[in-house]
Amino acid sequence: MNDIIKAVEKKHGLKVTLVKPGDEYCQANGEDHYNNWSGIGGREIELGIYENDELKLISLFHEVGHRLLPKGFWEKCRHNTLVSELECWRLGILEAEEFGVLFSDEAIKWGYEQALGYAGHDERERSDWAENTGKHLWVNKSGYREKLERQNADQIEKAVSIAMKHFELTERPEVERDNGDCVMDYCIIIKSTLSTDELVNREVEFCREWAASNDYKERIGLDIIPLEP
Ligand SMILES: [Zn+2]
Repeated sequence: MNDIIKAVEKKHGLKVTLVKPGDEYCQANGEDHYNNWSGIGGREIELGIYENDELKLISLFHEVGHRLLPKGFWEKCRHNTLVSELECWRLGILEAEEFGVLFSDEAIKWGYEQALGYAGHDERERSDWAENTGKHLWVNKSGYREKLERQNADQIEKAVSIAMKHFELTERPEVERDNGDCVMDYCIIIKSTLSTDELVNREVEFCREWAASNDYKERIGLDIIPLEP
């Protein structure tokens, strides 16, 4: 474990701090803060306290994934925390392979669940969110971009039908070609009179079903098991 951490620090020019129960970090911020928590700021990673080393290691690589996230991704995914977190887990897991580290299905699933914790929160972190919803919802913000990017008509139809179900639409939503500054090629535009909170909940459900309908297992060796709301 320590050897891998050293190798990661060296390759990526990072400094990794291992937070331990009762240490100065815990005294300053409370031990609870560091339970199952890690973070990265600049080139420094604070690696929190985990129930086992595998979760600690996959979390380390997730933070490395944040470093590896291409410049501009955050803007491109329109500040969608869920999409960027998922991407960081994916990048981190791939990077771990470079160090000969293969994670168990359980650890990968756990990581994925950490990302899903962001489902529905992403847009609300933006101050202009409320103004942007209620009338139009860009459903694919929380969806998965790969298939839509491939401009596969079947996948677009599938996304539309999932969206219709979750948003209780009787009319087909508009599908718009994106203007190109987004990683997604298509947007599904929902016009709705639902409240903002209700839209968020529906978007989360849409996101989960869409994720489950895609081949994440193929990509990162993971079965998607939608979480209970
Ligand atoms: Zn993260």
